[in-house]
Amino acid sequence: MASKKDQFISACATLAKGEAGNTGEWRAKRPIIDLSKCTPCKKQKDTCYLCWLYCPDGTVKRGIPIEIDLQYCKGCGVCAQVCPTKAIRMEVEEQFVLSECVIQEEVE
Ligand code: SF4
Ligand code: SF4
Repeated sequence: MASKKDQFISACATLAKGEAGNTGEWRAKRPIIDLSKCTPCKKQKDTCYLCWLYCPDGTVKRGIPIEIDLQYCKGCGVCAQVCPTKAIRMEVEEQFVLSECVIQEEVE
């Protein structure tokens, strides 16, 4: 039986960026932000930040503008789903990988 002291212990999780590891190589979709629709940007005010609040990997950085760390974003799409202004859309990652390869080939 739990002691009286244990009854008051509650679960508490601290979000750590990159719980899913470095996802830069396996993410299937990439979040793209339309800053013209993003409330903090539009109002120039610290507000909303639901994407930051709900991102399971802590990869959204609050600020004006908000930023997403693609090194650790796993492409789950939660941020796009919770965004009240539809400022985030998910795009297929492959197209970015291909275009980055083309740019790299042009440089070489
Ligand atoms: S898709 Fe959005 S919610 Fe999911 S890990 Fe990336 S930034 Fe976070
Ligand atoms: S949830 Fe949408 S509107 Fe709110 S801060 Fe994030 S991107 Fe901007």
